[in-house]
Amino acid sequence: MFMYCQARDQVFGTPGTPSGSCLRSAVSTLNLGALKILGAVSMVECYADGVAAGWKSPQQRVKWLNERRIFQRIRQRGPLSRVDLGDETGLSAQTVGVIVRRLLDSQVIVETGPTAHGKVGKQPIGLAINPEGALAVGCNIERDGADITLVDLAGQVRQETTLPFAAEMAAVSALHQIAKVVQSLLDQDPLHDKVIGLGIGTPGPIDPVSGAMVDPPHFAGWEGVAPGTILTQNLHLPVVVDNDATAAAVGEAWRLRGEQPTFLYCRWGVGIGGGLIRDAEVFPGLTGNVMELGHIVVNPQGTLCHCGAMGCLEAEASWWALMRTAALWGQTDVSDIAGLVASQSWVGSWFSRAANYLGQALTTAVNLMDVDRVVIGGYHFEQVQNWLLPTIQDWLAAYAFRRKVRPVQVQPSDLGEKAGAIGAATLVFQRWLPQTRDGGAMLGEETGGIRERVT
Ligand SMILES: [Zn+2]
Repeated sequence: MFMYCQARDQVFGTPGTPSGSCLRSAVSTLNLGALKILGAVSMVECYADGVAAGWKSPQQRVKWLNERRIFQRIRQRGPLSRVDLGDETGLSAQTVGVIVRRLLDSQVIVETGPTAHGKVGKQPIGLAINPEGALAVGCNIERDGADITLVDLAGQVRQETTLPFAAEMAAVSALHQIAKVVQSLLDQDPLHDKVIGLGIGTPGPIDPVSGAMVDPPHFAGWEGVAPGTILTQNLHLPVVVDNDATAAAVGEAWRLRGEQPTFLYCRWGVGIGGGLIRDAEVFPGLTGNVMELGHIVVNPQGTLCHCGAMGCLEAEASWWALMRTAALWGQTDVSDIAGLVASQSWVGSWFSRAANYLGQALTTAVNLMDVDRVVIGGYHFEQVQNWLLPTIQDWLAAYAFRRKVRPVQVQPSDLGEKAGAIGAATLVFQRWLPQTRDGGAMLGEETGGIRERVT
């Protein structure tokens, strides 16, 4: 995978210069391993090669992808009949029948009775998702606590809790506490044997091979810690770990019915991250660290970011940046944003500047990815959205390159602050359903609960 950039007469500089910063932002946003520049100075190697696909053969991958197409259609648009599924996917009636049989056997779908839109004569049987056919636990780890939730296949929350822990607590101790809370949630739910895995959302970057957190900003003491390894040892559950913004994006996509959503998700909080959903599937990049919106440079003469660049979006327009500025003004309590905006001029000025930086960065991302919807959420976003969203919408209406073809919608997340934990749970469904990828058993049937561990 590479990005091609036609430089024409322009000579690009090295990372750190203004022109180099543009390229660096593109590589960071798209999580590309290499950037090839026509007629210019270099190929920028940023990351090692990507994650191994894990398929034993191309045929196995095609088989699983077909199953996934059928499963996703039923999930998003069901009830659908077998004939509907054949019409919508182009797969033969025989292939659809075999796949539907497997999905029924695995209990992730059910027959619902005759569909209303069948032709004259015998009404075809409808197929719909079985919400209780599979459950997943989601855990979104913040520096001072974790949101933990148990959701069903329809994305509905069955149980949830928040575990606070001291910011200075050792990572391993925090993870052991998380394991106890997850076990407690499982013990309380009569359908705990339907849980197929635990999803964890953490700040990136994440090593795609070891699952370890790699120098996460604002997470001193968590460097090199692989949450999945510790939690799977404690809980004996398959664990998937991903960037928290990607997890939130997947959670947003999972709850949307009736469409194959394509959108860019921006997670605003202490840091700023993003995720890209195309046709209901997440675009992972080479290392699973895609759409690092927070490291788009918006002010090259600005604040030094923890990533090493100057003036990243995260350093200029995040909750972290707001807290930093508040401290300079001697303000420690920012719980009443509206009151602060009304009473202290620096707050209004900060939001005005931050909103413009967000608009600038998101316009860049939309121009790169050609999407028509931007969803913004995150831990503190509901508190501040009134002072950020209008300007962001103005930026995209005025400067998105595609605006005359089709305007870009900008909307706040419906999941709000729960997006991280719900998204982490849906990572499990997104990664492992349907579970007949090896041509047979559901996850867990072979070894009493643990067939695959991914960290
Ligand atoms: Zn940065």
